[in-house]
Amino acid sequence: MKLIRKINDLNKAIKNNFSLGFVPTMGGLHNGHKSLIKLSKRKCKKTLVSIFINPKQFNNKLDYKNYPRNFDKDIQILKKLNVDFIYLPSEKEVFKDKKIPKTKLIISQKILCAKYRKGHFEGVLDVMNRFIKIIKPKYVFMGEKDYQQFFLVKSFLEPKYNTKIIPCKTIRNNKGSALSTRNFLLNKSDMKKTAIIANNLKNLKKKISKNKSNSYKLIQSHKKKLIDKFEIKIEYLEVRNIVNLGLNIKNKDFKIFIAYYIDNVRLIDNF
Ligand code: AMP
Repeated sequence: MKLIRKINDLNKAIKNNFSLGFVPTMGGLHNGHKSLIKLSKRKCKKTLVSIFINPKQFNNKLDYKNYPRNFDKDIQILKKLNVDFIYLPSEKEVFKDKKIPKTKLIISQKILCAKYRKGHFEGVLDVMNRFIKIIKPKYVFMGEKDYQQFFLVKSFLEPKYNTKIIPCKTIRNNKGSALSTRNFLLNKSDMKKTAIIANNLKNLKKKISKNKSNSYKLIQSHKKKLIDKFEIKIEYLEVRNIVNLGLNIKNKDFKIFIAYYIDNVRLIDNF
């Protein structure tokens, strides 16, 4: 396992690796990250995992400051998984190249998290663009838990590079809560709530599948119930198709997307 901090060393280490799988992370590793890494190891000869908490994708300074950091444990996990390369760049190293053009979202893309977290995806796309440009992986493995992130990275970056972005299913705990680094900030009773909310929304999806034309009403009544029952702040609860994230779900596969706050911790999920 090679630990790499500098772009020059990275270039040297991965030179001539034509079957390289890349798993970008912000650390605080859990079984969700592990499933991405395991898939990469199955599909590719070598696997590179990055740990970089990208300040540009945080629209809230306190959120950046409080984001769980657990480098020593992360390295132990990656060692156990027998990952080939770990890339741990500094902020200075990542943004060294000042000439890289920024991606701008258009109005119709400013939905879901892009609507509520100003500059978030521009920050994600900037760093992912920089990483893919240098690493040139065959595949990038990304979790469906952050479906909009996967969708935007695929739409913007796949056409630019010879790299395929692979969606990986959301890993949940045995109660149904989606695993997330932010769960480290929650207590037991918060976690119970996330599980009930997840199961509730799984059932709502079944209901909507049977009666798509009634989706708006079902969503609104559920939203009210969840707020009343769990005293959470819901940022959005929406149904969108998975093809272009538009609102039209007639004859299209769809997902229910949620972003909410428990104890000032922002969580997202989709079903
Ligand atoms: P993060 O460290 O939160 O930036 O996540 C790094 C990658 O892991 C992203 O592609 C996420 O979508 C993915 N990921 C995070 N949580 C999960 C999960 N519960 N199941 C599957 N993938 C996940």
